Amino acid sequence: MSMDSRAELYQQVILEHNKKPRNFHKIELATHDAEGYNPLCGDHLSVYLHVTGDIIEDVSFEGEGCAISKASASMMTEALKGKNVEEAKELFRQFHQLVIGELNPEKDAHILGKLAIFSGIWHFPSRVKCASLCWHTMNGALENKESITTE
Ligand code: ZN
Repeated sequence: MSMDSRAELYQQVILEHNKKPRNFHKIELATHDAEGYNPLCGDHLSVYLHVTGDIIEDVSFEGEGCAISKASASMMTEALKGKNVEEAKELFRQFHQLVIGELNPEKDAHILGKLAIFSGIWHFPSRVKCASLCWHTMNGALENKESITTE
């Protein structure tokens, strides 16, 4: 894929998920939840998980934020549903490597699927925190932390 068409795809996916975020609600009987805040941009999200055994049966989010933070959270919920906790942590690890430019989805083995569109965001350091806020918050929720603030 050329640089231009990749940038175009990225724009389209972000806009579409921002307009129609998936799993955008609270899970009343969540087994895990946490609140995340990115002071750099003002993104403020809550992530809810319903885990049975070690399977993420349901995952959702709510909150206010820029298009990137919202689209990233929307895509994260789609990616995590049905995964087990270990797989979720591995996805978080790979996503983090991707957004800081240490994983190249064209060359390195990965399980990111559609999340690979966030490659290239490392060129915009202030946006990295927008894209990764939901993942830090999800990880915090799994570790029973109540709130996460990006540094
Ligand atoms: Zn943001």
